[in-house]
Amino acid sequence: MFESLGNKLQDILDRLGRESKLTEAQVKASMREIRMALLEADVNFNVAKDFVAKVSEKAVGQNVLGSLNAGQTVVKLVHDELVDTLGGKTAQPELKTQGNVWFMVGLQGAGKTTSTGKLAAHYKKKGRRVLLVAADTQRPAARDQLEVLGKQVGVPVLKVNDGETPAETKRRLDEYLKTDYRDLVIVDTAGRLQIDEALMDQLAALQTELHPTETLLVIDAMTGQEALNVAQTFDQRVQVSGLVITKMDGDARGGAALSARSVTGKPIYFAGTSEKMTGLDQFHPDRVAGRILGMGDVLGLIERVQEADMKAMEAKKPGDFDLEDLLNQLRQIRKMGPLGDLMKLIPGMSRALPEGFNIDEKQLQRIDAMISSMTVGERRNPKIIDGRRRKRIASGSGVDVQDINKLLKMHEQMKEMMKMLGRMSSGGGKGMRGM
Ligand code: GDP
Repeated sequence: MFESLGNKLQDILDRLGRESKLTEAQVKASMREIRMALLEADVNFNVAKDFVAKVSEKAVGQNVLGSLNAGQTVVKLVHDELVDTLGGKTAQPELKTQGNVWFMVGLQGAGKTTSTGKLAAHYKKKGRRVLLVAADTQRPAARDQLEVLGKQVGVPVLKVNDGETPAETKRRLDEYLKTDYRDLVIVDTAGRLQIDEALMDQLAALQTELHPTETLLVIDAMTGQEALNVAQTFDQRVQVSGLVITKMDGDARGGAALSARSVTGKPIYFAGTSEKMTGLDQFHPDRVAGRILGMGDVLGLIERVQEADMKAMEAKKPGDFDLEDLLNQLRQIRKMGPLGDLMKLIPGMSRALPEGFNIDEKQLQRIDAMISSMTVGERRNPKIIDGRRRKRIASGSGVDVQDINKLLKMHEQMKEMMKMLGRMSSGGGKGMRGM
């Protein structure tokens, strides 16, 4: 998703970014292009209009920003506006030490039950005692589906009975919690194919009984702007507190996700990224904006690296990042595939790579070969790799000395990034690591 929009924005901004001075006409023309690109990506009309108006206003007001040239200033303004449009700061559902009751609401097919399972897995991993409630009183199949997912992620599921009243559900839930302590109850409510008055009444009645602390609306990115109309209706009837946008891995143009915050006024908490139980990401507006503009999602990589349990990296201080770590990382990354997506996430990879240093599977093999041809001493302390050593390593791995030079340069850049990340996560960067 966002690919086509991202490419267009990157093109427009690339052209601007090189300019040290911009004329008003240049800015105007590129703002028109940006607006077109947003509309083509199915961004809500008013959101696109506001977006461009805000960037233009700021671009005119401040021609030079610190050490950035005029073009770079516009790039930064567009980036910041994207972050704002996506919601600014990362938002999370409220999670108290106990008594959390979350409602999952949404239309049938949006991915509500799947997301419920994913959330259960996610919060269980964080040490929460989760209980799922399958609350569709009309569709046994929906309840069974949740039961299967509950088993899969190892979380108990309480199923309502056919036609059960909300008061009865409340009584059964209280009964359950007396014998099995749970601090997070996630209720998978009934879904229908379209907005249905009876369903809304039923949801409202269940809310009155169970007093949810969060009501998460699940919307499907593939349904475009229609998803946002649905969101508004749900909010009017059952007061939504936040959004889960599913199928972000699909080929939707992205406009719905990009407009969701502005149109509904609700924060996006999570993004669904696959059908699997692990396919749920916390929604970080800054990272999504960075990804749209091809700036590489440094923090996203770190989280995935942690997920993959890369102990080698965790054990060391950021400044220690040596060629051995790089080798380990590359091998890990090759295992994690799909390569295209992952490579974009590596610090500096998408842009900072030296010209002609294309990263594909073959290149990774070459890098692997190069580092494998080094001695342990060289890997741990690349500074000792002088001209003679470079020649030896090159012939050992069947590449040119130039390739070794490029590799060492790339490693230096990555090391800098790691240092920066270390600083961000140790101080000042509150919440940077996500939930
Ligand atoms: P519900 O009716 O809202 O409960 O929807 P389901 O949870 O049954 O999901 C409907 C379909 O969408 C299923 O085939 C899911 O596997 C699929 N799905 C849900 N979330 C995602 C997602 O984030 N990405 C992808 N690719 N598929 C998803």
